[in-house]
Amino acid sequence: MSEPIRLSIAGMACAGCVSAVENALKEVPGVEEATVNLGERTATVTGTADADALIAAVKKAGYDAAELRGLEDEQEKENLELQEYRKLWWRALVAGGIGAAMFIGGALGLFPEIEESPGFWMFLSLVTLGVLTLVGGHFFRGALASLRAGRGNMDTLVALGTGSAWLYSTVVVLFPDSLPSLARHAYFDAAVIIVGLVSLGSALETKARGKTSEAIKHLIGLQPATARVIRNGEEIDLPVEEIGLEETIRIRPGERIPVDGEIFEGESHVDESMLTGEPMPVSKKVGDAVYSGTLNTSGSFLMKATKIGKDTALAHIIELVRQAQSSKPQIGRLVDKVAAIFVPVVVTIAVISFIVWYLWGPEPSLAYAMVSAMTVLVIACPCALGLATPISIMVGVGRAAEMGVLIRNGEALQSASQLGTIVVDKTGTVTEGRPRLTTLLPQPGFDESEALQRAAALETGSEHPLAASILEAARERGIEATAVEGFRAVSGFGVEGERDGHRLILGNARFMKQQAVDLGDSEARAEQLAASGETPIYLAEDGRLVALLGISDPPREDSKQAIERLHRLGLTVIMLTGDNARTARAIADRVGIDEVIAEVLPEDKTGKITELQARGRKVAMVGDGINDAPALAQANVGIAVGSGADVAIESADIALMRNSLNGVADAIALSRATLRNIKQNLFGAFIYNVLGIPVAAGVLYPFYGILLSPIIAAAAMSMSSVTVVTNALRLRKQRL
Ligand code: ADP
Ligand code: MG
Repeated sequence: MSEPIRLSIAGMACAGCVSAVENALKEVPGVEEATVNLGERTATVTGTADADALIAAVKKAGYDAAELRGLEDEQEKENLELQEYRKLWWRALVAGGIGAAMFIGGALGLFPEIEESPGFWMFLSLVTLGVLTLVGGHFFRGALASLRAGRGNMDTLVALGTGSAWLYSTVVVLFPDSLPSLARHAYFDAAVIIVGLVSLGSALETKARGKTSEAIKHLIGLQPATARVIRNGEEIDLPVEEIGLEETIRIRPGERIPVDGEIFEGESHVDESMLTGEPMPVSKKVGDAVYSGTLNTSGSFLMKATKIGKDTALAHIIELVRQAQSSKPQIGRLVDKVAAIFVPVVVTIAVISFIVWYLWGPEPSLAYAMVSAMTVLVIACPCALGLATPISIMVGVGRAAEMGVLIRNGEALQSASQLGTIVVDKTGTVTEGRPRLTTLLPQPGFDESEALQRAAALETGSEHPLAASILEAARERGIEATAVEGFRAVSGFGVEGERDGHRLILGNARFMKQQAVDLGDSEARAEQLAASGETPIYLAEDGRLVALLGISDPPREDSKQAIERLHRLGLTVIMLTGDNARTARAIADRVGIDEVIAEVLPEDKTGKITELQARGRKVAMVGDGINDAPALAQANVGIAVGSGADVAIESADIALMRNSLNGVADAIALSRATLRNIKQNLFGAFIYNVLGIPVAAGVLYPFYGILLSPIIAAAAMSMSSVTVVTNALRLRKQRL
């Protein structure tokens, strides 16, 4: 599949616009999926359509769009946002100032009666018209565009509210006699102040929204701007974009590494914490890989560029975080549906309110009808509703990235918050994943080196972590092992092959039994090894036992503490492994794991996940993402633990850049906090409308004589979205 196209969308005021733009994009031939993020003002489109066609479609729907490409465009987007912010402030100041002057003048009784001085009031009408068109013109243009597209949005409501206020007031001024004397009141100040307040709200919102993309900016900032490149024997400082593949780069002490590459001279320690969360600098020698954005400590070395530009691990991570930030969870899609019918409903309520006041309201009923309809229109903006979900997702996903947790999308975030069971793979997840040969018990007639030589010969062809430990032990003792012939790995059992005409097998008890090898009293010894957490492995030659080996892979230092955290989050932790049941139990007990499912064949792991799900549990599978990929995919949430930049992101919903179960606890705690934050936002936005609209319509008037002024309505409306954004920003600091 081709890479998704990202567009920056201008002119979206609120939730109603989201579906308008999404639908416009989806109608373009070749588009598979289009997601609009109101929090970020962007659209992400997958499929085969080209950017120009997409931009044209967005423009036709009444908005503006531009394509976002590399890291540089982020700066562009930021500049645009800053411009937008300044413009909004200006609008707020101009409209707010003029509106306040009109309001104060009226309140202090400085203005003449309408009938006395129609010229003065006509002047106010023209000033108001000027403000509405020059400062608030975008509301009317937006309302027109959305009307043409058959939809409504915040612009529609603001334009209707202020427009009708101006029209009514101007009719009062021009034809005062057509109205009962009590109804002869002008609302120019209200119309102008509404424009000012709504602009102020948007300005504050834009400012706060900028903070939500700090995580991305931080990641982008990790890549240095220039690097010392050696070309034709000369050392020159070049901008990072000009570095080519295979070029030689000198990394000096304290420098950040510009692109991904391999060391070919010198050595150092590199701080990779920004990519892996691992706080200790990692030793790097000739042949080791180094990653863009990581920090060289005191050594100095020469590296060859192996991955540049969009292909570096850092660029992948940035892209992933960005996509995740603009994706939508289920809950967000639901909200968009509600928001799409919101505006027509509000307009209907405003009309009903007008009619009721006009027919049954007190005198001057026309004025009351006018005020209540206007207030309803102004107070009921779906902005807060539309922002509630995306803004929290942006903050949550960004914070996760800073903690070394890559969340693939909003859906994964929502699922992670609902988990009840965590299934963990043993090797490399709970344990360090660097098994060591700790026991070697040859049978009578063989010595240790003879046994180890045979075992190593078999394991030469294997990629299993256990194989590495045996090869390592042989190397340490200076034992040369040449590969066996006819090597075969029997998944879940062990390995087999031929050496000097003898058939060798190496693996677990199950394998030996299947091959009819008599284990004798080694079995009891194996049980003891297993009880102490070692994995017992047997070696047999021509059907006769040669040796019993014990391989130990101790739990990670922080596994116990991480599992305690998972327990505190109310989760059940289950270990799923192909290893010996007793070994698995011993390891599980050391770290406090609740349940063990052991001796599972690789192909049955997926089935075990399905069984747990059938019991009604929401299950996460935590694994290395290589041979666990099917189980990761089957689980409600697949969590891949990677070693730093090599994370197996593709098969996982969540990828941990650091090798620790603490990342799982972080991911779940954060996803719950984010979902809670979204719900608070939605609740706030909902309650705001449920209370605000009826009060604006005047339901309290018959009982308490309370009727909101349209100015208060505008202030409340502006503050509602500012509140939502502010609440989402709390997530950045919240304790987990
Ligand atoms: P897991 O990945 O869950 O640890 P596997 O299915 O990879 O489990 O392996 C299960 C068991 O099969 C191992 O614990 C070991 O006993 C045996 N086994 C598999 N491959 C090998 C190998 N290359 N060398 C020795 N034993 C092996
Ligand atoms: Mg495995």
